[in-house]
Formats: sequence, structure tokens, C-alpha cells
Amino acid sequence: MSALSAARTAARRDLLSVLGAGARTEWRTCFSTDGSEEPTGVAPVCPDEGHEEDDGSVYVCCPEPVIEADSHTMAAYLAALLNADRGAS
Ligand SMILES: [Zn+2]
Repeated sequence: MSALSAARTAARRDLLSVLGAGARTEWRTCFSTDGSEEPTGVAPVCPDEGHEEDDGSVYVCCPEPVIEADSHTMAAYLAALLNADRGAS
């Protein structure tokens, strides 16, 4: 198993323990730090009807985890990686 495969498998196991088995979570970038000009965090897409899709904030309605990536580009990359892995076994 490659280092990437091992890391992907371990991260998926951790995420499933938080999100629930079988979750096919879609990810988004989010404003995880107050005052940042661009979203620097990654979080699951919020299923709440009152949370507008283009609102990158994190509220009490939003599912965990919120992962701080420290930069907009890293957050966008991590969200894209997680979305690419959606549904992988
Ligand atoms: Zn929400």
C-alpha cells in the first residue's frame, strides 16, 4: 500500500467515525477563523435548509468536523481531494 493509500484509508476511517458509517459527505471551504478574507477551513456541506449554499460561514447548524487549513488554496485543495474520494471504499 502506498503512503497516499495508507493516509487516505486512515483519514477515511477517522471521518466515518465522526460522520457516521456510510456517509457520503460533500465538502466545502468555510470561514473557520474570524476575520479571514477568504475561507481557510474545510467542512461538510451543511444540510440545513436555512443555510444558503453560498454562505461560507460556520453556524450551530453545521456538521463537524471543521478543519483549519491555514490558507485558502490549501482549503480548496483539501475540499477537492475529499470530494474526489467521496464514496470510495
Ligand atoms: Zn449550517
